[in-house]
Amino acid sequence: MTLDISQIRKDFPILDQQVYNKPLIYFDSAASSQKPLQVLKKEEQLYLEYYGNIHRGAHFLADKATNDYEAVRDQVAAFINASSREEIIFTKGTTESINLVAFSFGEAFINEGDEIIVSEMEHHANIVPWQMMAERKGAKIVMLPFDESGILCIEQLDELISNKTKLVAVAHIANTLGTINPVEEIIRKAHEKNIKVLVDGAQAIKHIPVDVAEMDADFYAFSAHKMYGPNGVGILYGKKELLEKMPPYQGGGEMISEVTFEKTTFNELPYKFEAGTPNITSVIAFGEAVKYLQNLNIEEAAAYENELLEYATKKLKEIPGMIIYGDHAKKSGVITFNVEGIHPFDLGTMLDKMGIAVRTGRLCADPVMDHFKVQATIRISFAVYNTLEEIDSFIQALNKLVPMLS
Ligand code: PMP
Repeated sequence: MTLDISQIRKDFPILDQQVYNKPLIYFDSAASSQKPLQVLKKEEQLYLEYYGNIHRGAHFLADKATNDYEAVRDQVAAFINASSREEIIFTKGTTESINLVAFSFGEAFINEGDEIIVSEMEHHANIVPWQMMAERKGAKIVMLPFDESGILCIEQLDELISNKTKLVAVAHIANTLGTINPVEEIIRKAHEKNIKVLVDGAQAIKHIPVDVAEMDADFYAFSAHKMYGPNGVGILYGKKELLEKMPPYQGGGEMISEVTFEKTTFNELPYKFEAGTPNITSVIAFGEAVKYLQNLNIEEAAAYENELLEYATKKLKEIPGMIIYGDHAKKSGVITFNVEGIHPFDLGTMLDKMGIAVRTGRLCADPVMDHFKVQATIRISFAVYNTLEEIDSFIQALNKLVPMLS
């Protein structure tokens, strides 16, 4: 392994601090990752040197900002191997990307009685927009279940697909169970029946190399803030032939070609889906996050994160009363658990007081909580800046807290 983790940690000064007089251990990167200096400096540089509103300004600052903004579109297209820059839409996050597709694909392609298959392990962001669309269009949501190990029952897909099915929505990696879903196989099965597939890549994008062409996804959504980038930016990748047939999601500036009070004509892709002033600064700084990930080498980072995951899982299993949700061999990034007899909020609060940031609650995935019949859970999640020593400190903390709280 060539990753130098102590060097990497220097890029994330936020990690080098004490909270409650304890060294900070940040185990909440699945909620949002920390940002390297390269990203922060780019934001600062833009505001200090060449900030201006993009596309419409006929002056130096606007031109320079526009060039950088559009260069990030090319960069993202290359990063996920999209076949053209028109297939990359800037949104404010995965949630907005999925809402865009649910609305716009729904308007173009969904009729009364049609069906959308949504997996049981989805984040609410990949359930609720489909329900809202189904309500509006008189369509139906069909659930693709997972088993006790947190593995999608894709053998049921053949039964669940009907001649009414129009789209399958599935996470590449589940934010609760960490399961890496076989999206290629799901897409292949769906495409055999001419059904489109949206992949929610929010948790996958920083953990595994994503190639939308090879995967053949129709739509792929992700957020910059979970991949060392700034908040307020997301990506929707969509196949050009589909995006072209879909109506705009929001109306306003940039998405128009011409406006009269009688009729408006819309701009071309990708601008048709980018109404209003976008998050210029964050998009431009996002380019640095993409570069950062590329320089890290995602495969190497993934192998290291896997080492952290396996080590933490092994250590956690030694704790009496430990229940881990999701133990698929193909897992990434997160461990969601409970300890018998202890409320996760109590444990989470005590861990926080020991400097360890974890996520507690229902993880925006009520159906997963209901599946396991639990009210709440604790989740730890890793990024490339975490260390085996941090896991040791976390396990030591649990060994102190568990007997105390039981
Ligand atoms: N999908 C998944 C799998 C997620 O983990 C998240 C974030 N927790 C989202 C969607 C929503 O992402 P955002 O809040 O950045 O829109």
